[in-house]
Amino acid sequence: MADRFFPNVMPNFVAETPASVAEQRPDTDSLMKLLSMPYLPLSEHFKRAALDLKENIAIQTWGAAGQRVHDFTLYAGTLGTAFLLFRAFQVANHSNDLTLCSQIVKACDSASLGSRDLTFICGRAGVCALGAVAAKYAGDERSLSYYLAKFKEIRLPRSLPDELLYGRAGYLWACLFLNKHIGEGTIPSSVTRPVVNEVIKNGRALGRRDKCPLMFEWYGERYWGAAHGLAGIMHVLMDMELMPDEVEDVKGTLRYISNNRFPSGNYPASEKDKSRDVLVHWCHGAPGIALTLVKAARVFRDEEFLRAAIEASEVVWNRGLLKRVGICHGISGNAFVFLSLYQQTGNVRYLYRAKAFACFLLDRAHNLIARGEMHGGDSHYSLFEGIGGMAYLFLDMVEPSEASFPAYDL
Ligand SMILES: [Zn+2]
Repeated sequence: MADRFFPNVMPNFVAETPASVAEQRPDTDSLMKLLSMPYLPLSEHFKRAALDLKENIAIQTWGAAGQRVHDFTLYAGTLGTAFLLFRAFQVANHSNDLTLCSQIVKACDSASLGSRDLTFICGRAGVCALGAVAAKYAGDERSLSYYLAKFKEIRLPRSLPDELLYGRAGYLWACLFLNKHIGEGTIPSSVTRPVVNEVIKNGRALGRRDKCPLMFEWYGERYWGAAHGLAGIMHVLMDMELMPDEVEDVKGTLRYISNNRFPSGNYPASEKDKSRDVLVHWCHGAPGIALTLVKAARVFRDEEFLRAAIEASEVVWNRGLLKRVGICHGISGNAFVFLSLYQQTGNVRYLYRAKAFACFLLDRAHNLIARGEMHGGDSHYSLFEGIGGMAYLFLDMVEPSEASFPAYDL
């Protein structure tokens, strides 16, 4: 399936050289110049490109759209622009970005009032949580109270799935986001604990104690990945307060995943897909699972999870230069695997790999998309599928030690 990704012919490592030396080598191609540039000037390139992209995305998804919201979600819709503006505000500290973020969230609030979707990435919780956090940073107490009250009105139906994009894990992530930015206990454990109980109960009902203690279904499929499966749910559970037996079940589930990886280091998309070593996406495959394994290595201080994550990162390096731009199933999302390994290990070789994926995009994405050689996303400006994700990655490349996969890592 070589047509899913570009062969990665970038060097395994390129040492940084002073800009003056690179300039003297006119034969060096533009990508190699970027890769050998000292980090400080390179991070300025990323910042400038990110802020230009952010401006354009805001114009296209908000201004030129008549300030109307068609799809409110963070995944493919207007809330993704608001989330990008919030990140731009955190990085560049321009209050205009925060103001525009709040305006867009307000429109998303109206547009999502009747929605039954309730997660951070695809539903109401994302709107109310981002609204509250933006209001907190803006010092707008009235809006903060309003959005928190609206968040607390969200009711979880019994039939809700457990996965991240549409289910309980995606609601819990919104609670964690609020507690991180507004303060511990903003959403108390009296709210989150019953949801965790339900997730554990459902997982145990389909799991097997001696094999994989927790298992879940989404539309009849037992997924493993971040978007709909085990990795995404374990990722969120690791941030919740768990009982010792629940911790063991989370660990056991992660061990089941990592022990059953393909010889290549990649992961099947689902239980049914155990012979199909194809997808290298955040949503399905090594990248999303690697982020969860890095987190498990940190939370449980377990080297085995780290080894599995490192093996997965080799797959991402070799087969993850996808012919798509976004966060969910594109190069931008895959770059975060290397950033998270860099944060966990301090090894500059992972920073280099993140830089290589980001520089590839910086140098070539616009032309490749224009020539039709790379897919610019079904929703071209969106955060998860389009160039919004690339802008987010560039913002996070400014300070790699602070980077975090949007709406997945806190
Ligand atoms: Zn995807």
